[in-house]
Amino acid sequence: MSDRTNGRTTVIWRDGQLIPWEQATLHVMSHVVHYGSSVFEGIRCYETPSGPAVFRLREHVRRLLDSCKIYRMPMRWSLDELVQGTVDVVAANELRACYLRPVVVRAGEQMGVNPLNAPVETFLIAWHWGAYLGHTAMAEGVDVCVSSWRRPAPGTFPTLAKAGGNYLNSQLTLMEARADGYAEGIALDSFGYVSEGSGENLFIVRDGVLWTTGLESAILQGITRDSVLAIARDMGIEVRTGRMPRELLLLADEMFFTGTAAEVTPIRSVDRQSVGEGKPGPITRAIQDRYMGIAGGRYPDAHGWLTPVPVRETVGV
Ligand code: PMP
Repeated sequence: MSDRTNGRTTVIWRDGQLIPWEQATLHVMSHVVHYGSSVFEGIRCYETPSGPAVFRLREHVRRLLDSCKIYRMPMRWSLDELVQGTVDVVAANELRACYLRPVVVRAGEQMGVNPLNAPVETFLIAWHWGAYLGHTAMAEGVDVCVSSWRRPAPGTFPTLAKAGGNYLNSQLTLMEARADGYAEGIALDSFGYVSEGSGENLFIVRDGVLWTTGLESAILQGITRDSVLAIARDMGIEVRTGRMPRELLLLADEMFFTGTAAEVTPIRSVDRQSVGEGKPGPITRAIQDRYMGIAGGRYPDAHGWLTPVPVRETVGV
């Protein structure tokens, strides 16, 4: 995993203006620092043969606006304006491939839980970020555990919102997994059904059928998850979504995580028990290849998932 500061870029979009990276700061009295009042997105821009392209940009911006709605955050920018701002921040930083982080925060300097008077600020940030769980992980798969931490119960922290505060739960899952020598943890929902990883959705393959957990299991409705479901249907693979008993993890022929950062990462063991033959299986490989191929422009963009970023012509000297 590359360090964020290694990938530092020059400008950040802040409420309609491109400002120097160093100036995109918040005060320590900001509401978000004390009460976790932020919502965000994670998006990737890929280098394709016809230039940089942002993957499923409109869907990510829509989910950001949904997160704002859930938390009653007044958003002054429209979907189209945020799409344009994202393209602008990639172009202005002259990036070819990058990770994008739109974040909406409650700022100001007024304490108290009530967020409604705190000003809302929106930032669009771009930086370089390689394979989330590492390149070896993408090729060979990762070793994971089932976490002792559960995802939020219904009616507590809404998981359809991609809110900063939800990631305290994710951090507990990930820290426990890392402390025990695993790459990632799989959290169960409050009823004991499988939910997802700390920052990824989960898929299994059994008898040629692709399964993933449903919205009733406290997942974030992942955009990579949606892309993988579409790809599987395109490939004629039977898909099922819904509740997944924990023991299915032990019976799976194949298993993988999906996420913007993690892309399609194979899982080779759970709690030290091998998944299938302990290496990425054929369906996982085929889906990974198709996903990376569409994102990188090697396969046709049949679903219209790519938003091109204009590249400034460099004039020869
Ligand atoms: N679940 C969680 C908790 C996540 O943080 C993410 C990453 N955003 C995902 C699932 C995958 O979502 P997406 O495919 O939209 O990146």
